[in-house]
Amino acid sequence: MITCTSAWTLAECSKRRYGGSMKPPAALCLLLLMACRSAAPAADSAPAGGSDAGTDGADATDATDGADATDGSDSGQDSGQRPNPYADDPYALVDSTLILVSLDGFRHDYMERAETPNLDRIANEGLRVERLVAAFPTKTFPNHYTLATGLWPEHHGIVDNSFYAPDLGTTFSMSDAGDNRDPRFFGGEPIWITAERQGVPAGTMFWVGSEVVWPSGIQQTWAVPYDGSISYDARVDRVLYWLDQPTDAPRMLTLYFDEPDHAGHSYGPDDAHVTAAIEEVDAAVGRLIAGLEARGRLDQTDLVVVSDHGMTAIATERALYVDEVLDLDLVWIQSWGAWSNIWPRDEAHTDAILRGLRYLPHATCARREDLPEHLHFSSGERVAPLHCIADLGYTLTSSDWSDSIPDALTGGTHGYDSAETDMHGILLARGPHIQAGSRLAPVENVNVYSLLARLIEVEPAANDGSLAPWTEALRPR
Ligand SMILES: [Zn+2]
Repeated sequence: MITCTSAWTLAECSKRRYGGSMKPPAALCLLLLMACRSAAPAADSAPAGGSDAGTDGADATDATDGADATDGSDSGQDSGQRPNPYADDPYALVDSTLILVSLDGFRHDYMERAETPNLDRIANEGLRVERLVAAFPTKTFPNHYTLATGLWPEHHGIVDNSFYAPDLGTTFSMSDAGDNRDPRFFGGEPIWITAERQGVPAGTMFWVGSEVVWPSGIQQTWAVPYDGSISYDARVDRVLYWLDQPTDAPRMLTLYFDEPDHAGHSYGPDDAHVTAAIEEVDAAVGRLIAGLEARGRLDQTDLVVVSDHGMTAIATERALYVDEVLDLDLVWIQSWGAWSNIWPRDEAHTDAILRGLRYLPHATCARREDLPEHLHFSSGERVAPLHCIADLGYTLTSSDWSDSIPDALTGGTHGYDSAETDMHGILLARGPHIQAGSRLAPVENVNVYSLLARLIEVEPAANDGSLAPWTEALRPR
């Protein structure tokens, strides 16, 4: 049976169990490792705050000078193992850690309508972007993977939460564990792989794409497969537990919270339940900050808080019944709601289908090549030939769909045109590489990957974004 130890890494797992071969047993090894890590008793009992935390860290490494001593020894190992492309940069001397936090569905203006002392602190002591412009479609899976790769969805291939992939002759479903491990669906290189490839140990406490088993054999050192039942406190504590490890402690981490998205869907963005959810995720960020402070690490940590998209209110009286203008037997539509991707069953009917769809009020329907340029959604085999995008607050539906999901037409949703400011999220950042008091005009989230690569001082993989929007907010060289 597996012996789980705190220092057990994927590379060791593969070597020990499979003589170093990463193919094909890497998938099994990753699963074993994830199970092992999930079961690690210290994670759930790891202190997240208070003065004990620093002491425990010091004991674990036999260091005499608290958590800082641990950092020192790690940095020595890391800097000796990898070429530093920023060797001339004085800030390359900062032994920093990047923690990327996502608050699902956190609209750009949510901080103004709730008590968010922890997010306010990050903004006040670092950078706040006026709005983080989501990629189209403004949904969770495409945007998390754009944040991680710097690629538009048409280029990274995660074109929706669930989608048809004609190149593979199959569908991807966000809730299918096998699909989430299958590298054929995921294009580009996520930041944790960019990090590991260049010698920076990485860990993922959930992120879209983090469960992929890459053919290259390169994986993040620490990972937990998605399990929405793990409490927010336990997610934070797991990250802190990883940071406390004496060997292979991650220097690049992701952390994901699924609120306030759920509350926004159920009740609409203006409801008190959303205010409560905003304050809940702020408290989770506060637990992380407290844990870092207790370890003496807060000022060596670039903390980047983002959201994937915003939220807007919908209502039954703003439902758009597509089956009133189109015989649904002629098409296959996987996505309903703010946006519908439409695959004609017979391409010869495409013009006639589009003519029908244009009778739909409060929606824009077009061939993919005629979609507005700012959507960046006109190429790639997985982008459907036809699209309808509802006006903000309207819902594309069919009689069958709204019958099967009774609350589909009430509360809130997202997925609309990325030019709609209600679809925009947040980006806050604080840390050694960030200029305190920075404020930036809206930035497209395709540029976030370039920022992350800069913060961990690695060369970014080829991507659609740029570091240019961030230069004002980075500490001068
Ligand atoms: Zn959502």
